[in-house]
Amino acid sequence: MTEAPSFRHQPPAAPPAPVPGCVACADLARLRTEASRTGDFSRVTDCDVLLRRHPGHGA
Ligand SMILES: [Zn+2]
Repeated sequence: MTEAPSFRHQPPAAPPAPVPGCVACADLARLRTEASRTGDFSRVTDCDVLLRRHPGHGA
C-alpha cells in the first residue's frame, strides 16, 4: 500500500510547507507567522492558500 497515515490526519493548523529555494514561498511563510502572532487569522488563511497554490511549482 502507498497510503501514508501521516497525510490522512493532519491537524488544521498544519501549515503547507514552503518550497525550498523559492523566495516567494519563504516570504509567504514569514508573513503567515507574523499574521498568526498578531491574531490576523484571515491573513493566515490567505497565506496558506497562496502557499498551496503558488504558481510556478508545477504541482
Ligand atoms: Zn513558491
